[in-house]
Amino acid sequence: MRTGISVEEALELVLAEAKGELPVEEVPLKEAYGRVLAEDLVSLVDHPDQDDTAIDGYACREEDTLGASRENPVRLRVIGESPAGRPFAGRVGKGEAVAVYTGAPIPEGADAVIRVEDTRREGDYVLLFAPASPKDIRPQGDDLRKGEVYLRRGDLLTPGRLGLAAAMGYPRLKVFRRPRVGILSTGDEVVEPGEPLPFGGVYNSNAYSLLGLVQEAGGEPVLLGKVEDRPETVLEKLEAAGPLDLLLTSGGVSMGEYDVVRKVLETAGEVVFWKVKQQPGGPLLLARLGGLPILGLPGNPVSSMVTFFLYGRPFLFRLQRRTDPPYRSLEARVLTPFKGAQGKKVFRRGVLSFEGELVVRTTGSQSSGVLRSMALGNALVVLPPDRDAREGERVEVIPLTFVL
Ligand code: AMP
Ligand code: MG
Repeated sequence: MRTGISVEEALELVLAEAKGELPVEEVPLKEAYGRVLAEDLVSLVDHPDQDDTAIDGYACREEDTLGASRENPVRLRVIGESPAGRPFAGRVGKGEAVAVYTGAPIPEGADAVIRVEDTRREGDYVLLFAPASPKDIRPQGDDLRKGEVYLRRGDLLTPGRLGLAAAMGYPRLKVFRRPRVGILSTGDEVVEPGEPLPFGGVYNSNAYSLLGLVQEAGGEPVLLGKVEDRPETVLEKLEAAGPLDLLLTSGGVSMGEYDVVRKVLETAGEVVFWKVKQQPGGPLLLARLGGLPILGLPGNPVSSMVTFFLYGRPFLFRLQRRTDPPYRSLEARVLTPFKGAQGKKVFRRGVLSFEGELVVRTTGSQSSGVLRSMALGNALVVLPPDRDAREGERVEVIPLTFVL
């Protein structure tokens, strides 16, 4: 077991556990939002499927309209129309025009269009007050070319990508099964909301903030309830959890006599590391039980959320083969001081905003027990070991992707 490692080393060790291959399932487009593609998608069509017009107006031959102006309009004979979806069957000859509407194919013989605003219709004729031009013709395949790959395995299906998959002609998509993530709370003092709170009790908030975080990362949370701080009950729950891709425990990984998660995993499983040089979340633990990776998150509400965000989320991204990074760093000017910690990388909670430049303020108390900071904040302020941030300094910030 390794201990007292850096954030970077810890992340590497966590990602190395994301070896499994998630099964692939097929879903209709209307259920695919937020899923992760398990196949490369080749466009089945050209889009547009032929040269079409980007504007409402008239299609004609450019050379017939050269020099047209307000004072010297050109007069063309209108031989038909081409609404979108109902192409004009004939051919545009010299001195002729066809009324076209956005998305309609350019009729044969025409090589230019003029917008309706620069024309006046007079019965079977149209007056052009400007030359027609090819610039408003969208060439065939302008957006998509048949046979080209536009979406890849590992791409998160965002609204734009869902539309793109539809435009490419796919009614159903192969996606990875959502990773199943067990959530187990530990602690004699932990009580479900709705129950009376005994003296010294605390409501189980971790299970629900983790539930949200798991869903946001594309996982399917499996709530396993809570266990008392007794090795036997912890083990029973772990073994009865059913098929999971990751197990999250909260609490019981600190130094205390009752921190049984660590003790149980040390004997029944295999601890990969315990303790990371960071704050909050220092007591984080990574273990395996059978083939199941387990992230032992500290019990403090802020610590469990921050460690999931920093390690659990990247793990789930890797498992889903996601091509986008689990988080991105930005730089912001601090408007309130942030305190660092000796020998530890620090993740404070801040409110990031744009005020001519990116700026960040504290959410208030930065204690690991103050869950409000995670509800108020939209970014983590990252401080390297042994460094405070004074007002006016620039710091690294990581937007909390589930609120930004
Ligand atoms: P532990 O890591 O077990 O030492 O717990 C650290 C702190 O987090 C203690 O104050 C616990 O009461 C609190 N805590 C542990 N589990 C939870 C939970 N599921 N929900 C809210 N607070 C918790
Ligand atoms: Mg505890």
